[in-house]
Amino acid sequence: MKNNFILNKGEKVWGYTIPSLDETGIVKTGFSTRVGAVDKGDRKSTLNFCHSMDIYPEEIVFCGQVHGDKVVMAGSESTVDADGLMTDRPGIALVTFYADCVPLYFLDVKNKAIAVSHAGWKGTVAHIGANTLQAMHKAYGTDPRECIVAIGPSIGKCCFEVDPPVARKFGRAFEFGSDILEHRDNGKYHIDLAEANARDLEGQGILRRNIYKANICTSCNTDIVYSYRREGGTPKRMAAIIMLV
Ligand SMILES: [Zn+2]
Repeated sequence: MKNNFILNKGEKVWGYTIPSLDETGIVKTGFSTRVGAVDKGDRKSTLNFCHSMDIYPEEIVFCGQVHGDKVVMAGSESTVDADGLMTDRPGIALVTFYADCVPLYFLDVKNKAIAVSHAGWKGTVAHIGANTLQAMHKAYGTDPRECIVAIGPSIGKCCFEVDPPVARKFGRAFEFGSDILEHRDNGKYHIDLAEANARDLEGQGILRRNIYKANICTSCNTDIVYSYRREGGTPKRMAAIIMLV
């Protein structure tokens, strides 16, 4: 699996770009860092990052992010209680926020449609990635075999420790549960959230070679990104952006 989130040090874009998606020439993508900090619930605070990508305020669409499994078309009234956005219209920048949760970027290369969804542990267990693909199929005729998926920086298996009840939810939600769970001597479990999402998406027909993971643990890299867990419930977030150009 390729690893291609590239940090633009000292360059114009204030964050990571995603060559696996950008090099198709169909989309513009980004994931912000601590530079130009973004605050939870403060949409204005994303503007510097968006501006660094030549994306303008009138092009930006957000959603509510309630740790659910709902994916909606950008701009619809139901964006309030959704955790995923999709569109097939160029010039609409889909923006979601993260600090440890998993950003999932989707590009349907054939139909030129995009989505981004917010997969915390609850969203992961609720199969938000699979729901995103199903919503794209319904709206745009998306075939998973024609899609590229990028999985952004998120808390890694090294740091994401949970109690047994949460681990059991993963065991129940995924037949491959034992592959992404690791039992520790203290009675707790470590979970590989990015891989859980990758495997779930593979189960939907996404080709492994079309899945690109950042392999960047937010909790291990607080010099670059924020970590909700490591930094005591910080209100700071990173913004994930994808837009058809
Ligand atoms: Zn870590």
